Amino acid sequence: MKDSGYNPYENAQSQFDRVAEIIGLDEATRTLLRQPMKEYHFTIPVHMDDGSTRVFNGYRVQHNDARGPAKGGIRFHPQETIDTVRALSMWMTWKCAVVDIPLGGGKGGIICDPRSLTENEQERLCRGWVRQIAKDVGPFIDVPAPDVMTNAKHMLWMLDEFETIHGGRFPGFITGKPVGMGGSLGRTEATGYGVIYTVREALKELGINPKDTTASIQGFGNVSQYAARLYCELGGRVLSICCWDHTDQKAYTYYKKDGLDIDQLFAITDSFGSINQQKARDMGCEILPGGAWIEQDVDILIPAALENQITRNNVGKISKQVKLIAEGANGPVNTDADEVIRNSGVFVVPDFLANAGGVTCSYFEQVQSNSNYFWEKEEVLQKLDTKMTAAFKAVKELSDERNLYMRDAAYVISINRVAQAVKMRGWV
Ligand code: NAD
Repeated sequence: MKDSGYNPYENAQSQFDRVAEIIGLDEATRTLLRQPMKEYHFTIPVHMDDGSTRVFNGYRVQHNDARGPAKGGIRFHPQETIDTVRALSMWMTWKCAVVDIPLGGGKGGIICDPRSLTENEQERLCRGWVRQIAKDVGPFIDVPAPDVMTNAKHMLWMLDEFETIHGGRFPGFITGKPVGMGGSLGRTEATGYGVIYTVREALKELGINPKDTTASIQGFGNVSQYAARLYCELGGRVLSICCWDHTDQKAYTYYKKDGLDIDQLFAITDSFGSINQQKARDMGCEILPGGAWIEQDVDILIPAALENQITRNNVGKISKQVKLIAEGANGPVNTDADEVIRNSGVFVVPDFLANAGGVTCSYFEQVQSNSNYFWEKEEVLQKLDTKMTAAFKAVKELSDERNLYMRDAAYVISINRVAQAVKMRGWV
């Protein structure tokens, strides 16, 4: 997202450079992997309901496909930038590699605010995006999925347009489809649950029972709603949740000292993850400023809204009680703040490990779509837990073995896997 002074792509590149140095990556592989392989910029004219025509800007970036077709979501956001999409596509490559699924990294975006578009306009926008990129994506090239402010409905419109253009049925073109239309059970829960599988494992490492912990979460959308639910099922208490208020155009933190009732909050939240302020107040929530989520005396922080949320300006406000930060969002901590956190000794589950549950389940969705045989939800979630837990353990083991920060250890595993693939293919 646009923010003066912060560039997510530079953040992603500096994280990569740091680890390329640690592992002594050769110059050619380094040059290849620190930038996207291909990127597409295009315009999307949309006929609006009032008879006017608006032209939107769309992107698709394919960072690397050495390990398999590029994979990554498409985001609708008014402050979307090409550098955000580049960074996210790069993180997707590392994410697929860390959980060891045979996919590469890609990402897409449209600069738009879907909250101000009607259903019909959103449908035309989705179809327009596909028309511009249909020849350069596909089940064996690059597979999109939902992300911020996109959902199963958008995915199905996109699939329908792709199939119309290519003349056939290609359910493997896109993931995050509705259940019953090629979607996988468990996909809605997957990213948030995946975050909590890693939280559960991290707490084991720290010797702490989840029942004795409290958490503060930023975001109350797809990732955070399910993270909050599973965390509470494990016995934890969420004391505060921060989300965006579309009416006031600012964020608020909803707080209850004995713990929020997640199901009750869910019932008063719109489809874009905004909690209804008045109803929250009626439920007995205290309403604090947006930035307050980070200052709470809790054991766990879960930033699960957007990138660049923990910065030099607020990192010092993190309570001494915090023992664990699980990054549900992509890139929520910028480089300066990461330095402070690394030196503080707080246990960090880095973004591309913590939130890899979504893409792992998307991979399961492709497997199910391709075989036209769909698994029970329990089976999906069990397989997801197995993958996430194995990835967490491999990263933790390397972190212990080589005395590396968890983020660096995750990068070492991913970069080595991708570097090996590009070498085996003879690219470098
Ligand atoms: P979402 O659109 O469903 O929810 C986003 C939430 O963040 C909403 O509650 C919104 O109110 C809140 N928010 C937005 N701007 C904010 C701000 N400035 N301050 C505080 N809160 C704000 O999105 P999501 O799918 O839950 O994704 C959240 C993050 O997780 C993103 O970084 C996304 O890239 C990442 N992610 C998502 C998935 C997935 O499967 N959905 C997978 C991996 C990573």
